[in-house]
Amino acid sequence: MKKIILTGDRPTGKLHVGHYAGSLKQRVELQNSGEFEDIYIMIADAQALTDNFDNPEKVRSNISEVALDYMSCGLDPQKSNLFIQSYVSELTELTFYYMNLVTLSRLKRNPTVKAEIGLRGFNTSIPVGFFTYPISQTADITAFKATTVPVGDDQLPMIEQAREIVRSFNSTYDEVLVEPQALLPGNEACLRLPGIDGTAKMSKSLGNCIYLSDHPDDIRKKVMSMYTDPGHIRVDDPGKLEGNTVFTYLDAFCRDEHFERHLPEYANLEELKGHYTRGGLGDVKVKKFLYAVLMEELEPIQAKRHELEKDVPAVMEILHQGGIRARETAAKTLAEVKHAMKIDYFE
Ligand code: ATP
Ligand code: MG
Repeated sequence: MKKIILTGDRPTGKLHVGHYAGSLKQRVELQNSGEFEDIYIMIADAQALTDNFDNPEKVRSNISEVALDYMSCGLDPQKSNLFIQSYVSELTELTFYYMNLVTLSRLKRNPTVKAEIGLRGFNTSIPVGFFTYPISQTADITAFKATTVPVGDDQLPMIEQAREIVRSFNSTYDEVLVEPQALLPGNEACLRLPGIDGTAKMSKSLGNCIYLSDHPDDIRKKVMSMYTDPGHIRVDDPGKLEGNTVFTYLDAFCRDEHFERHLPEYANLEELKGHYTRGGLGDVKVKKFLYAVLMEELEPIQAKRHELEKDVPAVMEILHQGGIRARETAAKTLAEVKHAMKIDYFE
């Protein structure tokens, strides 16, 4: 079977280091591995509108920001189709047919949707569109017959839902759809990078992010304000690693060679952790090191972004062309779906 990737991000803000660690970095590696026949990377504006329907300007203005982040991290429009979800109207049509295959109680059980409803304060007034976004996400994945969906672990319940819909469709109608698999980052700290405030997940909607395009001075301030161990008051106090955001970020980003360049008195992260837990190592020193590590990763990305920002219309045109190609594929799948459902009257 052909190996095909579909994944994407909501244009609710610029992309942050959580996206980079959890998905973007791996996408670029997969793109360059040459193992995949087709790669579709979608900016999910229609999904973003499900909880930002009253703020269309926010969604619109972040389309080019996300595209700039993609390309500055190394997504290459020659190798990956970059497109905007709403441009491919076939996705909406597929969503409507898939709705018949999902029960209300099944949607209510989705733990990610439950958590997001709480975070957005929707408890008593959940927009139906938001509640059903896992179904629309299934349409996005299956329209391209994606086999592989590189995501952070908050997306696992969505992929599970997609697999169930595929099985239900194929057994009710005909073997048209492909069951996708989630592909998580190999590094545990990258599965769900916490916010700088120590909350469970860095998220655009929570305002606890280090954005890929933040000015280095802002990144320094954010790193220096990061949540560590509240019990680690004096330098001599033994420090805790558990729940210590600075060390989680080091787990996600730091490699041995960073020590040679920025903190040569330690050979590796294990030694640094050892000193911290014994006591005698201050937070400021660890944070300065983290800042150096992050900037080493982000500097080339930011330089590329500054270049790309000079011609935003060219970036938008890339999304347009990617959308035209994405529509061709989605239209084929939709035709097969309608045939299987016996609603292809005039073919
Ligand atoms: P929003 O708050 O609008 O939902 P978000 O920050 O959660 O935004 P999404 O666009 O929903 O970002 O997520 C895009 C992709 O990035 C998904 O694959 C998701 O798993 C991954 N991702 C998002 N935040 C993190 C994080 N903190 N750590 C690891 N992966 C993440
Ligand atoms: Mg999200």
